[in-house]
Amino acid sequence: MEYYDPKEYDLAGRIAKLKTKNGTIETPYLFPVIDPIRQDVPLYVIEKMGFNAFITNAYLFYRRNRGRPKNIHDTLKWNKIIMTDSGGYQVLVYGDIEIDNKTIIEYEKQIGVDIGVILDVPTGTKMSWEEARRAVFETFDRATEALPLLMDADQLWVLPIQGAPYRDLVLYSSLRAWKYPYHIHALGSPTVLLERYDYTDIVELVALARLHLPPQKPLHVFGVGHPMILPFLVALGADLFDSASYILYARDGRYMTETGTRRLDELTYLPCSCPVCSRYTLAELKSLKRKEQIRLLATHNLYVLMEELRKIKEHIKEGRLWEYLEYKSKAHPSLRSAFNIVKKYVRLLEKYNPLTKPNTFAMMMNDYDSLHHPRLRAIKKNVYKFVLSKLDLGNTIYLVPAIRKPYSSIIELVKEIIPNEEYLFYHPFLGVFPPSLSNTYPFFQHEYNDNIDRYTIIESSNEIVDTIIKLREFRKSINEVIIYYVEDSWSESLSEAICEILLGHGIKCTRHTLGALVQSQLRPREL
Ligand SMILES: [Zn+2]
Repeated sequence: MEYYDPKEYDLAGRIAKLKTKNGTIETPYLFPVIDPIRQDVPLYVIEKMGFNAFITNAYLFYRRNRGRPKNIHDTLKWNKIIMTDSGGYQVLVYGDIEIDNKTIIEYEKQIGVDIGVILDVPTGTKMSWEEARRAVFETFDRATEALPLLMDADQLWVLPIQGAPYRDLVLYSSLRAWKYPYHIHALGSPTVLLERYDYTDIVELVALARLHLPPQKPLHVFGVGHPMILPFLVALGADLFDSASYILYARDGRYMTETGTRRLDELTYLPCSCPVCSRYTLAELKSLKRKEQIRLLATHNLYVLMEELRKIKEHIKEGRLWEYLEYKSKAHPSLRSAFNIVKKYVRLLEKYNPLTKPNTFAMMMNDYDSLHHPRLRAIKKNVYKFVLSKLDLGNTIYLVPAIRKPYSSIIELVKEIIPNEEYLFYHPFLGVFPPSLSNTYPFFQHEYNDNIDRYTIIESSNEIVDTIIKLREFRKSINEVIIYYVEDSWSESLSEAICEILLGHGIKCTRHTLGALVQSQLRPREL
């Protein structure tokens, strides 16, 4: 796609260049919603933070100018990118508005916006399924009606994907969208739920839409603007967001943080060092006149959103978006639910996820969640398919704990114990792998914590046994497993669990310690 050019991938997230006639947006990106009549945070402040595009409302601009087509960049004194919504939101809030689809599209073209939206019919949260279905069909009728008008347009055009919160309707919209030559798809979101930290619906809907929409086109999510949830949606393939939350929250005295929202009155400290929070004390912020307080709170909120976008991009670049989700998921129960849904769509993620990146950083393995890392799972699958299943392991599988890097010291020691046999390494996160892979990613490039929790042991031992059983189906001669372990290390409990499960499957399994000398050299170093 010449207007959309993804460069970096991680999970289903991507860093891409979205080209418009007035410049390029680096996605993932959030368009701050700007009020064309009453804008509390001046545009130069927003620009200074690093936002080079905003979204405003073409319908309000139309009303303000009584339908006269004025250049929107000149009027708002902004020579960068402007996206306009069409008034669909006003339809949702106030019912019908006194403008039709064709008029607003022509107007968006005349005022020279960079990204335009047709006049859709948002479904919101209050519509019955029947009403929502009618809204979906009406939106598509308007998308069809708009096509001849868009032929000569030089902007990017957005096709709204309506039907939320009804999954079948979002699915229908996503599949039908393939037939329409729009540049960007935009999922209507149940904004009301987001106010209550209820993220499960939006995460499911984004996953559903991303799975069924053309993957090469960017996906915008309307009305999502909290730093808590953005990385989860990016991980599922959302590229663009817009939100008025920064100002709506500010008008309500609410201060955004990475992990939640606080009322200014609830705070004892300002847990942020943006220019606002560095310059003002909490007491000063509280004592300001309302208008000034709103402006500063909104400015802080925007800084927090920009910081989150940068963090997300950095994690994508480093190939550590999964680790970032693990971290965020521990901050709030609602994010835990969001993370569980991301896990559910792990197969979708694997499809989008390159196994290695040119500059992938070490994989961080913390607990049970790390076992679900889509890249790790994909790598294990490939190791099985291309390496393990090709090995001739004889009648007995020898398993040796990959207990300390560099593995060369274990390889030397094991030569003395089982000199003539092939063996495999086992590890609570990495599963089973041959020593030949021990210098490759992530078998070497990873960090983990030696104190492995019980859940990880259970999940990991089951996974390792599954691999052994698969190998055995393939090579029927395998009839015994011998596992070595190091006392007082994870290998003791993991080997015990593996043997127990194998015996349950009727496969002979014995455990041996690696011996006192070996142990003293291999036991993880005391801190
Ligand atoms: Zn701040």
